Amino acid sequence: MDSAQYISTNTENYDVLTHRSSSIERYSTILSMVLAGSPLREILHSLVLSIEAQKIGTKASVLLISNDKKRLLNGAAPSLPEEYNQAIHGVEIGPEVGSCGAAAATGKRIIVEDIETHPNWAAFKELPLKAGLKSCWSEPIIDSNGEVLGTFAMYYDTKKSPSDLDLELIQEAAKLGSLSIERSQALHLQRLTSRIFSKLPMGLVITTDTHSLLLVNPMFKTITRDFTADKTVFEPEVFFEKSDPKVLASMLKNLTRGNTWQGELTGYKRNGKTFDAEVTVTTFRDYHGEQNCLSWLITDISEHKDANKLIHFQANNDALTSLANRRCFLDKIYDYVWQLERTKQTDIACSVLLMDIDNFKLINDSLGHENGDALLKEVSDRLTTITPRGCLLARIAGDEFGLFIPGKVSENQLISLAKQINLTIADVVIIEQQHIHPSMSIGISRYPDDSTIVESLINFASQAMYDVKLKGRNHYQFFNETMQKNAERTAYLQMELGKALNKESFELYFQPIVSVDSIQIEKAEILLRWQLNGEFISPEEFIPIAEQSGLIVPIGKWVRQQALTIIAEQWQKGCPIALAVNVSTCEFLTDELQKEFIYFFEEFVGTLAVSDFPFDLLTLEITESLMMDQHQNIECLLNQLRNWGIKISVDDFGTGYSSLSYLANFPVDQIKIDKAFIQKIEQGPRHRALVEAIASMSNALELAVTAEGVETQTQLDFVKRNHVDAIQGYFFYKPMPQADFFDLLDKQNN
Ligand code: C2E
Ligand code: CA
Ligand code: CA
Repeated sequence: MDSAQYISTNTENYDVLTHRSSSIERYSTILSMVLAGSPLREILHSLVLSIEAQKIGTKASVLLISNDKKRLLNGAAPSLPEEYNQAIHGVEIGPEVGSCGAAAATGKRIIVEDIETHPNWAAFKELPLKAGLKSCWSEPIIDSNGEVLGTFAMYYDTKKSPSDLDLELIQEAAKLGSLSIERSQALHLQRLTSRIFSKLPMGLVITTDTHSLLLVNPMFKTITRDFTADKTVFEPEVFFEKSDPKVLASMLKNLTRGNTWQGELTGYKRNGKTFDAEVTVTTFRDYHGEQNCLSWLITDISEHKDANKLIHFQANNDALTSLANRRCFLDKIYDYVWQLERTKQTDIACSVLLMDIDNFKLINDSLGHENGDALLKEVSDRLTTITPRGCLLARIAGDEFGLFIPGKVSENQLISLAKQINLTIADVVIIEQQHIHPSMSIGISRYPDDSTIVESLINFASQAMYDVKLKGRNHYQFFNETMQKNAERTAYLQMELGKALNKESFELYFQPIVSVDSIQIEKAEILLRWQLNGEFISPEEFIPIAEQSGLIVPIGKWVRQQALTIIAEQWQKGCPIALAVNVSTCEFLTDELQKEFIYFFEEFVGTLAVSDFPFDLLTLEITESLMMDQHQNIECLLNQLRNWGIKISVDDFGTGYSSLSYLANFPVDQIKIDKAFIQKIEQGPRHRALVEAIASMSNALELAVTAEGVETQTQLDFVKRNHVDAIQGYFFYKPMPQADFFDLLDKQNN
C-alpha cells in the first residue's frame, strides 16, 4: 500500500467515522422533531440543511408526491434558487423526466452526472444550467409499504459522480425523509381522528367484547349525563333495557355473531329518563389482534322523532278537538276495506257513522265562534267517552263527526250505540250562562251490505244523516234502499239535466195571474217544464237538483232570455204582456254570478237597440232566503234592477226564515202569499188570521200582494176581502203551454 493510498484510506476511514457520528446525530435530531410533532416542512428543512452541512457543496432538495401520485411538489430546498424551485413545483413524473421525476416514477435511484448531456434532462436542461446546476442525483423516498412518497435529491455545480459514502448519505437522507413524512402523516391522522372523536356530533363508545369501557367521547357523556359517570363497563342489556324487547334481542344476537347492527333503541339519559337512540354497533379486532372490540355510535333522535310525531299528528288530527281529521278517517276506512277486499274475508264487516250537530250554524252565529268552538269540544269529549275500543272517532268537517267501527256488529248493537250517542249529546251544555241542548243527526252505512266502496259508504251514511235532518233531527237512521234509489235518480237526473239545455227539451208554461178588481189576466208566471223520454219531471224535483249542481245558472238565464224575447215581441206588436220568472237564490251565490246576472240584462238591451225597453213588464220572483244571506251586495243588485223598472216579488212568502224586518229594508215591490197558507184558510180561524196579518202588513208597507194557489170560491172570497191585489190559482187557470196562453190572451183582448 503506497503512502498516497494509505492517506487516502485513512481519509476514507476518517470520512466513514465522521459520517457515522453525524448520521447518528441526524437521526436523533430528526426523530426528536418527529416525536415532538414539529411541522413536516420544518423537519424536511432541517434534514436538507444537515445533509448539506455533511457534504459541502451539496444543494439538497426534498420533493413530495402529490395526492394523485402524478406530480412532484416542493418539500424543502432552501439552497436552490427560488426561481428553480418554482419551475419544478408541480412537474409531472415520468421515467424520463429529469432525475427526480424519473426516480419518483420508477422507484429507483437516478444518478445524472452531467445534466447537459443526459437524455432525461434534454427537454429541461436550460433550467438547471441557468441556475448553475450541472449534476443531480435523486433517491426515491419510499414508505414502509413500498409506496413512493417523494424524492431526495443532491445537486452540484460541477459534473459529479457519487462515491459509496455519497450513496450511503443519499440513501440515509431518503430513509429519514420517509420516516418524517410517514410519521407526520400518521400523527396528523391521529390528531384528526381524536379531534373527530371529540367533536363528533353523536355518541361514540368503544368497549371490549366483555363490555369494559375503552373510550367514551364527550358527546356520549352529554347525551347520557350522569349515566356513564364513574362507570367502567357499558352493558348494552342494561343501557338499552327500555327498548322494544324484540329489537334489543335482534341487536344482541347480531353482536354474538360479530355482525354490524343498525337500528333504533331506547337508551337511558339520566334519573331513569330515556331517549330515542339510533345505534350502529360494529365489531372489530383490536390493534394487537387479540381481542374483539365494539364501537357503539349512538345518536339521540328524540327531537327529530318528536318533530316527526308532531308533523304526523298535525297532518292527521284536527287542531281544535285533537280527534282524527277527515283525511285520517278516510285513510283508516280505505286501509281496512282494502284489506278485507284483498283477503276476501267476506264474513268480516265494518260500519260508518256520520254525526252532524243539529242547527250548529244557528248556535255558532248567535253565540259567536269561540263559543261555537267550545260546543264542538264538548261534543267531541262526550263522543270520545262513549267511543268503543278499537273504533276511530274523527271530526271530518265543521260540525260533522265520523265514527268508524271495524268488525262485524249487529244492527241492534249499532242501534244501541246510536241511541247512546243521542242521549249523551242531549245533556245540557252551559256556555256563557246560556243553556244549550245540543242534538245530533246520525246516519249509518255498513260494509258490505250497503256497499263495498268506501266513497259510497261515506256517501250513504251522509244520505241517511240528511234523511234524519229532514225528518226532524236528533235521531239516527240506517241507509236504505229508498235512499239509494233516490240517490241514483238524482244522479241520473243531474246527468240528463246537463244535456237538456242543449237538446232544448225544456218548455215554458204560463200560468195567468188575474187582477182581483177586473178579473182580467194582468200577468203570467213562467213555469219551467221538462220532459225526459216522455216522462214529465216536476220542477219540485229537478229544480233542487239543478241548484245543487249549479246548472240552475244557465237554466235561469235561458228562462229570462225567453221571457224578455216574448215581452219584446208582444210590446213591438202593440199588445204588451207582463211576465214573472222565478230566480233561484243559488244564482247569486258569488260576486261573479251577481255581476253576470246584471251583465245579462245590459247585454240583452244592447242587442235590441232600443233605449226604452219596457223592463216594468218583467217581474223577478225571488225567495226570502236571498234577503237573509248577503245583505249589502244583494240590496245594491236589486236596486239596480229596480232602477231599470224590473219588479221584484217575494215568492212563497211566509215559508222561509220569516224574518219580517227585511221587508221594510229591502227593495221589493210585491209579495206572493204561499199556496200553503191559502189552502189552509178553510181549516180554521188561526190560518185565516195568518193570511189576514200578511195581507194587512204588506198593504201597510205599500207592497202589492198576490195570493197563490187559490182553488176554491171560498178561498177567493176570503182573499178578496183581505185586499189582495192579484190571484194565481187553479180556480182561474192552471199553467198552460205558450200557444194556449196567447189564444187565451187574444180572446180576452177581443
Ligand atoms: P212557485 O214559484 O211557487 O210556482 C208556483 C207553483 O204552484 C207552480 O208549480 C204552480 O203550478 C203551482 N200552482 C199554482 N196555482 C196552484 C193551485 O191553485 N194549486 C196547486 N196545487 N198548485 C198551484 P210548479 O210549476 O210545479 O213549480 C214548482 C216550483 O218550481 C215553483 O214554485 C218554482 O219554485 C220552481 N220553478 C218553476 N220554474 C222555475 C224556473 O224557471 N226557475 C226557478 N228557479 N224555479 C222554477
Ligand atoms: Ca214563483
Ligand atoms: Ca210560489
